[in-house]
Amino acid sequence: MSVLINVQPLPEAKLPKPDIRKLGVPQLAEWLLSHGFKAFHAKQIYKWLWQRSLKDFSEMTDLSLALRNALEAHFGFYPLSVQEVQKSQDGTLKVGFSLYDRNLVEGVLIPTEDRMTACISSQVGCSLSCKFCATGFMDKKRNLTAPEIYDQVFEINQQALKNYQARLTNIVYMGMGEPLLNYQNVLSSIEKITSPDGLGMSPKRITVSTAGIAKMIYKLADDQVKFNLALSLHAADDEKRNKIMPINDSNSLEALKEALRYFYRQTQNRITLEYILFGNFNDSPQDADNLFRFSQSLATRINIIEYNPVELAPQFQRASGRVLNQFAAYLADRGAIVTVRKSRGMDIDAACGQLANKNKV
Ligand code: SF4
Repeated sequence: MSVLINVQPLPEAKLPKPDIRKLGVPQLAEWLLSHGFKAFHAKQIYKWLWQRSLKDFSEMTDLSLALRNALEAHFGFYPLSVQEVQKSQDGTLKVGFSLYDRNLVEGVLIPTEDRMTACISSQVGCSLSCKFCATGFMDKKRNLTAPEIYDQVFEINQQALKNYQARLTNIVYMGMGEPLLNYQNVLSSIEKITSPDGLGMSPKRITVSTAGIAKMIYKLADDQVKFNLALSLHAADDEKRNKIMPINDSNSLEALKEALRYFYRQTQNRITLEYILFGNFNDSPQDADNLFRFSQSLATRINIIEYNPVELAPQFQRASGRVLNQFAAYLADRGAIVTVRKSRGMDIDAACGQLANKNKV
């Protein structure tokens, strides 16, 4: 397997011009006033940047030529571009994106009967090294900027329109990286995705998935976020979870439970527990009971996810269909809200836990 993210990123300080998409409306207005233009143009520019996702000032046709030239002279764009689109037999699309500094990330479009879901990345690589995840075998190179996260959504929406004549209905921050370790950029991207001057999506259609960083869950709660939160749990006892997710060493299940309770009290948002079922590791009746108990003191729904094999982690295998059904039934019989998530896009390494920029060289 070739895994390539080996180029040295261009340090941000050396960007030839500042990135205009890092400015909000107030900063744009300030810049306009200080350069002799009217502040009201800030809203027009913001709409071009986000709603239309333009990356060329000359196309901002309701601005004067003088203003377009001034913007061109002062600011630049550092968008990501679609490098490759692979289509799975089941219709899932994996989109490879190239960043301005030649780093690579991936996003996925998952079409189902009633949803068009984009799964997007928040970092290049990941520092958390979960043992079952292909991204966890890559070093973390850097955080994605808010515009880079937004661009993934915009481009995957274009793919949905082109391939399925439908717009995105849902977005999950479950691709490469830990979103809560890129907190400001993730929240800023969601602000643009949900803004009427951006894509205008409801925050209820957005889910941020974390491996479990208690401190940042408290911060989400204090920031009164409106989007959904998912915890990648995968084992409901500390000993097992420590074995597959090193982050659990410093964020025990008890600490996470407290943080999630606080999150629910502050936001009233039900939490999703993601649980990948590994054969002969976390799929016993005792494991199901541990999961049920963990879920009980929280307002949760549970997603049981089929495991997708990763070449670098041969110790993990998929639980059988029979065991998966029994596991889900154990929880449902006790009143838990359970959904089984079948694997999608496995033949193109687009399934959950498989994103690692394979095939790029
Ligand atoms: S599962 Fe998520 S947090 Fe864990 S290594 Fe993979 S990308 Fe990082």
